[in-house]
Amino acid sequence: MAAQAGTAIVWFRRDLRVVDHPALVEAATHESVVCVYIDDPKREGDWATGEASKWWLSRSLEKLDKALRQLGVSLSIYQGSTEAVLETLIHDHQATGVYWNRLYEPAIVHADKALKAKLSSSTETAQCVVKSFQAHVLKEPWEMLKKDQTPYLVFTPYWKHFQVTWEASTPLQPPKKLNAPATDTRLDSIEPQALAPDHPWTEKLSKYWVPGIEGAASQLASFVDDRVASYETLRNRPDHAGTSALSPYLHFGELSVGQVVRALESSGELPIGEGALSFVRELVWREFSHYLMFYYPHLPDQPLKPAFESFPWRSPDDYASDLETWKRGRTGVPMVDAGMRQLWETGWMHNRVRMVVASYLTKNLLIPWQEGARHFWDTLVDADLANNTQGWQWTAGCGADASPYFRVFNPVLQGEKFDPRGEYVKKWCPELQDRDSKNVHQPQEGLDLKKQRQQALDAYAQIKKR
Ligand code: FAD
Repeated sequence: MAAQAGTAIVWFRRDLRVVDHPALVEAATHESVVCVYIDDPKREGDWATGEASKWWLSRSLEKLDKALRQLGVSLSIYQGSTEAVLETLIHDHQATGVYWNRLYEPAIVHADKALKAKLSSSTETAQCVVKSFQAHVLKEPWEMLKKDQTPYLVFTPYWKHFQVTWEASTPLQPPKKLNAPATDTRLDSIEPQALAPDHPWTEKLSKYWVPGIEGAASQLASFVDDRVASYETLRNRPDHAGTSALSPYLHFGELSVGQVVRALESSGELPIGEGALSFVRELVWREFSHYLMFYYPHLPDQPLKPAFESFPWRSPDDYASDLETWKRGRTGVPMVDAGMRQLWETGWMHNRVRMVVASYLTKNLLIPWQEGARHFWDTLVDADLANNTQGWQWTAGCGADASPYFRVFNPVLQGEKFDPRGEYVKKWCPELQDRDSKNVHQPQEGLDLKKQRQQALDAYAQIKKR
């Protein structure tokens, strides 16, 4: 096939890979290709990349550059207004195509629409085809409407719809070879390390994680080989490494969700393996979170259920010190403290424990869920606006298909059920080492979980009346 004339620009965002990358495949049909990443925090509204994510991103971009060099081009990283950077690149390279893969966060959707309209209408860039592609999710939000053409608000019917309509597809192979353009640009690129955080806290994360394409591939392979078969039985057990730990790789798109599903099919685990099916259901929770955020753009800051806008949270002056104690993992409740210390040490926390710590913050301490979501945003290596918002709203009781508000997770019972020997809490809270498994999950003396629960129920009764 003859190459399309001219140079194409591929704008990488949260798709830091070369496999299953439709924008890159489209660009490869041109004579030459320019690959760029643009650091433009303003474009992400109030949710610019958090500290732990910056650490991950800077390392992941290095790996993407390496992979692109093997194909014949390199990655250029620029800082500043996306629109200005792309316009300059289009002009300098006389580009005939700009391609990217779609994302679904409200601020980004808004900015992408404006960018597309501007590039397509301006005479300066009119020679350039501007095109975006589906690559971040298995189903586009608009493919998943109810019969009456409105969006789902409950997961189970969404999941059923997904199952009957989803068709497997083969992940796209990377281009065999890419040509760099003969032209140069006036723009100065920066090194990936320039995007790393200032905070020394993130340095220890490299003990636990290998960001980038190769780290993603080995994490997926070890999950498929060793853990997926027992996923259904062990996924709620923080004392076992029973889940995939693929969340940061999926967030940054070092692996596409289609590649994950295909790996399960190739191994024979799908369509029949119980563990694999249960795992796909979690991947579809990820889809559902992105879907909700697309249709309800106010969700990162406001509750989906309007009644919660007048919830009687404590005031910031009153809760400041309890919030700090929660962040540091010093509440005196073993499951909560273990989870918060795991987060601080590794940039990740087990899903079951995320629910326990979120329930404790919002219901036992009556601190607004937005405070917890902000802390997670900065400290999680997998911080993801859609999944994080959905996780917090679900646990606080104000989101779609939410756990009812009166369901206050009891951290003692949760611990006894999901960490029966206390191995998880002892690992992260060494001061519990000498406790026997019978009382290892008991809170420190003087902490009255029953009373806290009652206060939460009383607060809830106030908004129920309204
Ligand atoms: P696995 O169990 O192996 O699941 C596979 C993948 O499915 C995950 O990598 C993730 O992409 C997706 N997934 C799993 N559970 C959920 C879920 N409940 N909602 C949406 N997607 C899910 N997940 C994030 O990726 N980023 C976040 O910022 C985030 N914040 C959360 C905050 C709270 C309060 C709660 C309760 C949950 C949050 N989650 C978040 C969801 C979930 O806890 C993590 O995705 C999961 O723990 C990641 O570990 P894993 O990759 O081993 O998961």
